[in-house]
Order: sequence, then C-alpha cells, then structure tokens
Amino acid sequence: MVIVMKPGTEEDQVRRVMGRIEAAGLKTALVQGQGRLLIGVIGDKQMIATLPVEVLDGVEKVLPVTDSYKLASRQFRPDPTVIDVGGVKIGGGQLVIMAGPCAVESREQLFEAAAIARDGGAEFLRGGAYKPRTSPYSFQGLERQGLEYLAEARELTGLKIITEVTDVTSVDVVAEYADILQVGARNMQNFQLLRAVGRAGRPVMLKRGIAATISEWLHAAEYILNEGNYEVLLCERGIRTFEEYTRNTLDLSAVSALKQLSHLPVIVDPSHGTGRWRLVKPMAMAAVAAGADGLMIEMHPNPAVALSDGPQSLDPVNFREVMKAVRGLAAYMRSADDVVNA
Ligand code: PEP
Ligand code: MN
Repeated sequence: MVIVMKPGTEEDQVRRVMGRIEAAGLKTALVQGQGRLLIGVIGDKQMIATLPVEVLDGVEKVLPVTDSYKLASRQFRPDPTVIDVGGVKIGGGQLVIMAGPCAVESREQLFEAAAIARDGGAEFLRGGAYKPRTSPYSFQGLERQGLEYLAEARELTGLKIITEVTDVTSVDVVAEYADILQVGARNMQNFQLLRAVGRAGRPVMLKRGIAATISEWLHAAEYILNEGNYEVLLCERGIRTFEEYTRNTLDLSAVSALKQLSHLPVIVDPSHGTGRWRLVKPMAMAAVAAGADGLMIEMHPNPAVALSDGPQSLDPVNFREVMKAVRGLAAYMRSADDVVNA
C-alpha cells in the first residue's frame, strides 16, 4: 500500500502517520513523489487492511500495490530512482558506462585498462577481484590484492569502481573499496548475500540470474531494498536459452519491461549477453535504443592473453569505436526526446 500525502503536508504530520503504522508492527518507507510525499507500507496484508489510514490528518489517498514485490515496484514509486555515486548520476537520463576487464589480472593490466576506459569516456572501471568461475581450475581472481589495484586505479584516473562480491564473508572488504557492489548472475538468488549487501551501505548492481524470470529478479532486488538500501541497479546480462551460437540470449525486452514495472535504473551487459566481441557494438546500441541507463562492457588491453572472457572483450580500438557509437546514439535520443516533448 502507498499512502499519498496532501501537497505541503508538514513533516511532523508525516512522521505521525508513519508512527501510527509502525506501532501496528508494519514497516514504512518515505518516498519523495512529484510534488508530494508518499509513504510505502510493507507487511502483513490483513494487518494493513485494518489500518484506518484514510482518516489520518494529511492523508490524501491510499493506493494498493498489487505487485508482490513492493519497494521495487513502479506502483510504489512512480518516479525513476536516480543513484548518485560521488557525482555520477545513474538513472537521470545520462548514459553511464562501466568498462574494464573481466578480471583484475595484474597492476599493469588494470592500470592500462583504466587509462583506456577513462580516455574512452567511461565513468566506471569494472574488474573482478573475486571471480565466480565455472571451473575450479580457472583463474579465481586476486581477491584483496585486486581490490587494492582497483582503488589505486581510481586514485589515478578518477573513475569510480564497480566490482563483484561473491559471498557474505567478503561483503565488508569489497564494500571498503568499491563504489558499487556487483552481485553476479550466479548469486542472484543467494538471499543471504542479498541481505548482506542490503546492509553494506553501498549501491548494489544486481545482475539477472542465468535462468531468472523478470519477476524473480525483481523479488531478488526486493531483498536488498527491504534491508533499507534503496540504491539498487538492475543489470540484464542475458539468459540461458537453447541458442548456442551466443553465450547467452540478451533479453532487451527486459529493459523496457523493467522500466514499466520498476523505478530502478537498468544497465545492460552486452559482453556476457553475447559472449562475442563482434556482437557487443550492435547490442550496446540496441540497449541504448531500448532505454538502458547504462552499459557494462568488458574491455582488455590485449584480449588474446586475457585470463578470462577474452573472446567477448573489446580491444582498445574497438572499445573507442563502441564508445563513440553509443554516446552518439544517446545524444541523438535525448535530442529526439526534446523535440517530442517541446
Ligand atoms: C562479471 O560481470 O564479471 C560476471 C561474472 O558476470 P555475470 O555474473 O553476469 O556472469
Ligand atoms: Mn566476464
């Protein structure tokens, strides 16, 4: 249920309404809507139904949230969520680029990648220090050392850092270094991890599970939001289908669907979504056209020697070309919007 307060309601009146609801054992969340405050009420349905909220001072109307995920729902929060990461706004109309190698392999490799990402105009440097690998014999990541290199690269380039956290025990250490915590596809329904990142005090990018429906994905996001962390981004990275030519099937309809169902920013990863670097540019452009708020792109100074995901990683020259294409398209789409809205 969402309680819409009358325009101009005093804050202490809003607090009184929230207090009444919380006294009944229910949870509340305060949201700034367009020109008015909204109070989200979460908890037992029957209990909510018995609350006489319509008669409380300052309440304009009460709307049901019929989706079974609540905090992630567009019904709950009509305006898009904009996440400000040290001045970089995600979800506010600007295309945000997260680029870098699949894994942090060495100081030299990461610093080279960071310079390429910065010169190409990315806002975030990506790179896994804790790697969830299909085979236990594959390179597993540099762990804390990798995080140190990422922090150094941030100092050198000014790029923000996004990196994956793979289990509950490393949430604190990753949160110490990262600007955004990434929860990978394999962990999308690791509910303990979702709860832990919900309490970590950092924005979280939740990648879509390999075989997850949009509804399951939004329920997973709800776990993080329910811990009080409202800075959640969703990342479409392809799902498993019968198709084998591509590593995954990039579901771009999910971008538009999520925009209707949720207020959370949506990022697209065309690298894991296709597994082939030649498909990254067209799918990146298609993602921008579908309304993505940002892209996560794997790029390596020399993909031929990458310790992971070389075949889907762009080299520096191709990375620059993709950056130009997506920035150009994003600018065109903004100007087209301006014409339509004029
Ligand atoms: C990654 O981005 O490094 C990664 C492992 O991706 P995913 O979780 O989407 O497979
Ligand atoms: Mn990868």
